[in-house]
Amino acid sequence: ELASFESRTPASRAALKKAEPRLPLGVASNFRSYEPWPLFVKDAKGSHIHDLDGNEYIDFNLCFGALMAGHCHPAVVAAVQERLEVGTMYGMPHTLEYELAEEICTRFPLEQARFGSSGTEVTMHAIRLARGFTGRDKIIKMEGGYHGVHDSVMVSMKPSAEHYGDPDRPTQVPAGAGVPHDTVKNTLVAQFNDLDAIKRLFAENPGQIACIILEPIMMNIGICIPVAGYLEGLREICTKEGALLIFDEVKTGAKLGRGGACEYFNIKADIVTLAKSIGGGFPLAAFAAKKEVMNMIAQHKVFHAGTYATNPLVMAAGLATFHHVLTPEGYAHIAKVGEALVEGYKQIVKKNSIEGYIESAGANGALLFYNKKIRNYREWLTVDTDLWRLYWFGMVNRGVMPQPYWWDEQWTLSVAHSLADIDRHLSAFEELAPAIAQ
Ligand code: PMP
Repeated sequence: ELASFESRTPASRAALKKAEPRLPLGVASNFRSYEPWPLFVKDAKGSHIHDLDGNEYIDFNLCFGALMAGHCHPAVVAAVQERLEVGTMYGMPHTLEYELAEEICTRFPLEQARFGSSGTEVTMHAIRLARGFTGRDKIIKMEGGYHGVHDSVMVSMKPSAEHYGDPDRPTQVPAGAGVPHDTVKNTLVAQFNDLDAIKRLFAENPGQIACIILEPIMMNIGICIPVAGYLEGLREICTKEGALLIFDEVKTGAKLGRGGACEYFNIKADIVTLAKSIGGGFPLAAFAAKKEVMNMIAQHKVFHAGTYATNPLVMAAGLATFHHVLTPEGYAHIAKVGEALVEGYKQIVKKNSIEGYIESAGANGALLFYNKKIRNYREWLTVDTDLWRLYWFGMVNRGVMPQPYWWDEQWTLSVAHSLADIDRHLSAFEELAPAIAQ
């Protein structure tokens, strides 16, 4: 499959060669770099994307899950075009801000929101808010959890097995150089789905832990579902210990349903972070919390600011996305195409006796190459990456971008996907399946 990929994509190879002298790795974000070379994009519309060689793919990558709207959703494009004529940045308040905050606070069990431009930015502010509110410095994150690229969360992002230590006491491993040792010390690490570990950390650090931050469904290790009672347990412990529970819903927020994981699991987080799909293709991010917590900002105790916060083009895109994509009809469409895809995959996996399973949640799903359900990062780490590469390149060569490159990711469905797109996806997989099964 690799040879076929190479012969189909010479223009991407040439573009990488041109990019390498001026951009480290030839790309703008490390996740976009892979062997033999990444596909360079020419254009995209709806559910389709083209590379520089003119190859067409049905896109289930959708910018790492940020495009439940699909590419260039007409309502989003129209809303942005309209705003383009009346000013692209103000650095002054405007009415789209409270309209969008209202949308978020009616869908999530929270009272106030503030906005930013990336997932990184809002998880950083959420953690600072929790630290300010509690007056404590330590935080807990999950081993293998990804929350962006600020120092506090760049700990045990994807630690290698030689470094991660005892399962009951994971080593706090900085994700690369440049993360201060003092910051690493304050980021405690637990394995997902292990409530005892959380209890132990609180017992060992009495009155010192500001918050637990996690993805309620871990979507940066494939798709890892919480075991029954886990999230409820976290909620209970945080309440008892006076710590805040932060749901990082950058991925789950829009895609699990209207009220994200809070609604899906019926659990009230204290702070929720949102990004990716709420922007409909524009860099929109938000953090929302109860008024009592957000009062830290109102009272000038915790600082939040940003020149690009609530950029009017982005807010117009966000509002159009809430009104035209994240709607009951939008979710019903995604449920319909999602069910067809999941059922199709399950049948093909079974028929070919592929060692793997299909996991899905809302607009996301993935074929995970394991013989049993993964419950945490360490189990996820045992994936057969060669097999996964065969799957990814095999699908791409057949005109389907099944998910982003990397086996910790998943497919995303959009309102732009048709049942015909799903049929093409499944036909490609059916053709490839016997090779994967061997
Ligand atoms: N949190 C989660 C759960 C994410 O998946 C990501 C990005 N994949 C981020 C935060 C960081 O978002 P961004 O890339 O917009 O900074």
